[in-house]
Amino acid sequence: MDYTATSPVPAGTLIIGAGQAGLQLASTLRELGETAPITVVGGESRPPYQRPPLSKAFLSGEAAEQELALRGADYYASLGITLICGEWVEELQLHDAGAGAGKALTRSGQTLSFDRLALTVGGTPRRLRAPGADLEGIHYLRTLDDALALRESLNQASHVVVVGGGFVGLEIAAAATASGKNVTVLEAQDRLMARAVAPVMSQFYADAHRRRGARIELDAAVSGFRGTDRVSGVELADGRVIEADVVVVGIGLIVHTDLAASLGLTSELGIEVDAGGRTRIPGIVAAGDCAVNSHPLHGPLRLESVPNAIAQAKAAAASLMGRTPGVMPVPWFWSDQADLKLQMAGLTMGYDEVVIRGDMDSECFSALYYREGQVVSIESVNAPRDYMTTRRILESGGNIPVNAAGNLDIPLKTHLRR
Ligand SMILES: Cc1cc2nc3c(=O)[nH]c(=O)nc-3n(C[C@H](O)[C@H](O)[C@H](O)COP(=O)(O)OP(=O)(O)OC[C@H]3O[C@@H](n4cnc5c(N)ncnc54)[C@H](O)[C@@H]3O)c2cc1C
Repeated sequence: MDYTATSPVPAGTLIIGAGQAGLQLASTLRELGETAPITVVGGESRPPYQRPPLSKAFLSGEAAEQELALRGADYYASLGITLICGEWVEELQLHDAGAGAGKALTRSGQTLSFDRLALTVGGTPRRLRAPGADLEGIHYLRTLDDALALRESLNQASHVVVVGGGFVGLEIAAAATASGKNVTVLEAQDRLMARAVAPVMSQFYADAHRRRGARIELDAAVSGFRGTDRVSGVELADGRVIEADVVVVGIGLIVHTDLAASLGLTSELGIEVDAGGRTRIPGIVAAGDCAVNSHPLHGPLRLESVPNAIAQAKAAAASLMGRTPGVMPVPWFWSDQADLKLQMAGLTMGYDEVVIRGDMDSECFSALYYREGQVVSIESVNAPRDYMTTRRILESGGNIPVNAAGNLDIPLKTHLRR
């Protein structure tokens, strides 16, 4: 047997970021027939796990740590995927600036060679800069380690302040309220979830959280934190101080752009890709929370959701395999806040009319968004059937006439294309 290599052994694909998008990209590459080596390297010490339960079932103790893993330990070996955990890539060097082959240098001194590169690097929580921001008891939530520390802290707490009235902040607030804590949500804007939902939905959620016992303060700008070693209060710009044993800050994500920026692949929003997850350097793709795609109607768009991470990773894998990526699905998302299941499909940007279907007081209804008479998105609260039907209509390019949308006597499925 001759073991002399006649051609260079392929270094294969290196995927930096062992999260939802990185794992999906690796799996899809194998599904599409990739036989060369695939290495996934991630900075966290654990194999890829689900983040959504961290602010929901895991925080409230209903889900255990073992249930969070995205795949079992044998999955990676069975697909021939080398998974390296707890290793942070600090530098990328390309052999040739115009092509994706090169090497990655890690913090511990390893060198990982690649023929093709995928960046699925996600981001890190935006920090609140204010006096006292480093006190004990002030938490951020992105990783399982963050969630373990927060859960431990919440167990000892009676007064919880959540800074930021977005999805994650409100989910934490709901879990803390349900476990009997005195909870205050401080939102700097004049309504909750302002980046994502319409005013009518923001108002509904403010009322719903208040009904469940949380205090919701809008237009509430944090100016600092009180306490000696540990936080004891949150100072507001108007001079008020809110008592706190635990503070959780959820004010957005800063994308990990350093590596991509060193190759000139970023804009202000994140790593720039096309619909196939391709950056402008052939052989380098990006997907998930870090990737910015150009939307035909709305321009540069970066979405933070599991469905988006999965869809973009699949598209990026197809591109690396030289295939034409499928059409990106209609964006969808969910958020569980107490017993309110919010499900969203489509993009609300640029809407000019909202129709409410169902009874908001019963906490079971949908808001349908229109642009020039065309339904563009839906947000449903405890109305999964309306949500699913409308999502199918959006995916098929159909419509629900504005004057029929709010009429409960006309089932939405009437508008499904046959
Ligand atoms: C608390 C919480 C609740 C959420 N709830 C929902 C929900 O209900 N529904 C929903 O759709 N989405 C939800 N999301 C968002 C969703 O989890 C993310 O959109 C998704 O996990 C993004 O996956 P990703 O692979 O792009 O990024 P990530 O999961 O962040 O993975 C990126 C990984 O890359 C690693 N990395 C970065 N740079 C390097 C480097 N240089 N070297 C090595 N490793 C590196 C990071 O450590 C990280 O592990 C939630 C997120 C959080 C935090």
